[in-house]
Order: sequence, then structure tokens, then C-alpha cells
Amino acid sequence: MAIIISGKDYVSQHIDSLKTRCGEISKKKVPFMKVILVGANPASLSYVSHKKKLCEKVGAKFEIVEIHPEVEAQDFLKIVDEINKDAEVDGMIIQLPLPSQLKKLDIYNLVLPQKDIDGFHVQNLKDIYENKITESSLIPCTPKGVMKLLDFHKIELKGKDVVVVGRSHIVGKPIFHLMLNRNATVTICHSNTKNLPEICKRADIVVVAVGNSRFYNSSFSHKDQIIIDVGISRDQENKLCGDVDFKELEDCVQALTPVPGGVGPMTVFSLIENLIIATEKKYI
Ligand code: NAP
Repeated sequence: MAIIISGKDYVSQHIDSLKTRCGEISKKKVPFMKVILVGANPASLSYVSHKKKLCEKVGAKFEIVEIHPEVEAQDFLKIVDEINKDAEVDGMIIQLPLPSQLKKLDIYNLVLPQKDIDGFHVQNLKDIYENKITESSLIPCTPKGVMKLLDFHKIELKGKDVVVVGRSHIVGKPIFHLMLNRNATVTICHSNTKNLPEICKRADIVVVAVGNSRFYNSSFSHKDQIIIDVGISRDQENKLCGDVDFKELEDCVQALTPVPGGVGPMTVFSLIENLIIATEKKYI
């Protein structure tokens, strides 16, 4: 039986320390997060509700700015600009995905770096790329959450062969750099990669971030492998699942994350931590 790397357990064990930290900064300013939500994509609504719940649980302020799905780019930019200028707001996120008319915008760089609690702005990514991370760096939430989980389980990265499947701006690429910074030997794979099962089979640790339900099975793994499943999708029965075939692998790898309850809660936890960091940077 594999070790189950649970994000849910991590959050329940660490929520009090986040609450305490939020309480401390609240003596000067209660952290305030605004979420821009364009349209009513069911997955986005669900993610936003998780963010709201944890935000309020630690004592921070949360507000959703709902925008019509057919909003024109210039009106959308005006709203982002207003929130950027609002001194009351400490952190802002633009919930993805966005409708097609907004996709041509430089979306990752619209939120001011100091309010960019998603950590997508190029100025924030610089800390990762240059290996100059500090306590106050705003690191993208899912990659940050993955590193927290590995550290919590004392999984050493130095000298390990790591494969990251998926090269998105928000998940795969930042994870690649974070692992590299820890002296792992990192391979990043994508839709044009040849012999994916063969490459993954050689890895000590695999991070899968594709969005293809349960495709990662025993043909990719071995008994000593540690697997972090970032993927979230729905199967044919509309059941939430990851990229990894959990049932098939839970008895034949060293450790793996479940979906739900694995990386998902870590992403939300890291977002709230980033909100607190952004507020601390402003007021301490
Ligand atoms: P994305 O932007 O769609 O990127 C998917 C990546 O997978 C791309 O790099 C793509 O390659 C690669 N890919 C697609 N098919 C592949 C294949 N057959 N073999 C190898 N690589 C393949 O997605 P994302 O935003 O990174 O998200 C990935 C998954 O993680 C989604 O299920 C998403 O819902 C989930 N997610 C979860 C969390 C969480 O908190 N748990 C957070 C964010 C995202 P190309 O670059 O060549 O197209």
C-alpha cells in the first residue's frame, strides 16, 4: 500500500498557524482579497467558493467581482485597473479560464506584482527563475503547494530524477524551476514528447499536470516512484478525478496524492498564504 500524500491533512494541521499570522497582521490591516470572476463556469464557481471559505476561516476579507461573460476587453481592463489602484485591496486574482475575447490580453501581467497573489506576474516569477526565493516571494500557488507537500513528507529532491508532465505557465514551468532550484535533475514533458511512459518510468518523482483523466497508469510507473497528481477533471460519470489512475497505482508505487484532497487544498492554502504575505509586505 502506497503512502497517501494528503493535502487535506496538511491544511487541517497548518490552518491554525495561518490564522495566527492573519490575526497578527490584522492588528494593522485585515488582509483583503478580490476575485474577478467572468461568467459562471461551474468549475470556476467551485474553486472560488473554496477560496472564499478558507479566506474567511483565517479571518481575511473576501469579495467577488462578478463580470458579464461578454464584457469587452477595454471594460474588463478598466475594472482590473480600479482594483489595482484601490488601496484597501491587498490581493487580487483573475479567475481562469476567461472567455475568448479576453484571451488576447497579457493576462498574467495585468495585476500589479505587489497584489499578484496568484504569483503569475513576470516580476514575481523572476524570484523562481533566478533562484532568489525569500519568505516574501509570491510563488504561484499550485507549484508552491506541491513543494510544501513534498517538504512536509520529507521527500528529498537533491539528486533525484524528476519528471514534470505539462508545461503551462501556471503549473508545469514554475514547478520545473522550483525542483531545479532544489538540485533535482528535471525533465519537462508535453504533448509532443515521444515515449512518455519510458521517460516517466525512469523517474523517482513525477508531477502530472495535464488534465486528462486517469491516463497515468502502471505503464508509466514503478514501485519506488512518488507521484504528485495536479490534474483535475471529470470522468464519464461526472466524478472528480485526477490525471493518475489512483485505484490502479495505490498498491504499486511508493507514494501518491489523491484527487480530490491532494494538491487542490494546497493550492488554496498557498493562495491565502500569499494574501497574508502581500499584506505583510505592505504594512510591516
Ligand atoms: P494546460 O495549460 O492545459 O496545460 C496542459 C499541459 O499538458 C500542456 O503543457 C500540454 O502540452 C500537456 N499535455 C497535454 N496532453 C498531453 C499528453 N498527451 N502528454 C503529455 N503532455 C500533455 O493546463 P494547466 O493549467 O497546467 O492544468 C493542468 C491540469 O491541472 C488541469 O487538469 C487543471 O484543471 C489542473 N489544475 C489543478 C490545480 C490544483 O490546484 N490541483 C491547479 C491548476 C490546474 P502542450 O504544452 O504541448 O500543449
